[in-house]
Amino acid sequence: HAKASGQKGYAFFETSMNSDAHEQMQIARELRVASARGELTLHYQPKFDAPNGPVIGAEALLRWSHPTLGMILPGHFIPIAEKTGLIVPIGEWVLDEACRQMRAWHDAGHPQWTIAVNLSAVQFGHDGLIELVRGTLARHALAPRFLTLEITESTAMSDVEASLATLQQLKDMGVNISIDDFGTGYSSLLYLKRLPATELKIDKGFVRDLAIGTEDAAIVSAIVALGQTLNLKIVAEGVETAAQKAFLTRIGCDSLQGFMLGEPMPAKEFIEAVAQDPASTEAPK
Ligand code: C2E
Ligand code: MG
Ligand code: MG
Ligand code: MG
Repeated sequence: HAKASGQKGYAFFETSMNSDAHEQMQIARELRVASARGELTLHYQPKFDAPNGPVIGAEALLRWSHPTLGMILPGHFIPIAEKTGLIVPIGEWVLDEACRQMRAWHDAGHPQWTIAVNLSAVQFGHDGLIELVRGTLARHALAPRFLTLEITESTAMSDVEASLATLQQLKDMGVNISIDDFGTGYSSLLYLKRLPATELKIDKGFVRDLAIGTEDAAIVSAIVALGQTLNLKIVAEGVETAAQKAFLTRIGCDSLQGFMLGEPMPAKEFIEAVAQDPASTEAPK
């Protein structure tokens, strides 16, 4: 971790979180070099059919393996990549690498797995997105139904009419659309009804306090009911306890993700972990 890497690393880590323009430019410069040097990497977090598997795919999560600071999480550099526009080339790399990996896993005996890739607002608003997605899928001979693009509710809401058009084109192509961090934005129900999404992903902030019977339990139940009404798949992220898993399963979540079930891991560990868990590769009972 960055914090464990000594004083110099700690200082760098901290500067990435304040808004000093000079320091942000320095991080942007480092990030540009990092991506050229191949220091960016993807971890994969398994996604499970509720309640007990199998694994139905993975979400690709970006990591920066810094030579002196160690692993840096996206929260510390994605905002800067967005501000500087670097997220566009980085995002192209993420999509390509995630699809390459999924093609390899399909060929290695998991031909039904899907890969989920996060898109930030800048990428989502970028002109070349549709052609990029089409070209990347073709390059890896991956059918569109094996790709899920995750956009946050606030991204989808930032320019409603433009979002609807872009999402419709992606959906027409056959790509799945997941509304990430659902419940943290301000979707009107009317808008949600028009949104060409295939999945709602309940924000982990609501999942956290489920077990102790707070208002969050009622909110999550309402989100699930809403999603079912709109014919959307419901995924819960941030599942950390058996009680959360039991609750989410009982109210009808379709799939689950969380540290309790599987953490984000490098590709090699992911496939080893899944291979060791027979429930993950067999059909659900
Ligand atoms: P997200 O897409 O909502 O991803 C879920 C985040 O929750 C990940 O953090 C994941 O490691 C973490 N998580 C998973 N299970 C649990 C759990 O049980 N408990 C808790 N507390 N956390 C859990 P991560 O990897 O740090 O990513 C943070 C955010 O950065 C992502 O949120 C996504 O918005 C963004 N991001 C990650 N990779 C990319 C990327 O390739 N491109 C873009 N544009 N954004 C990315
Ligand atoms: Mg996500
Ligand atoms: Mg999320
Ligand atoms: Mg999030």
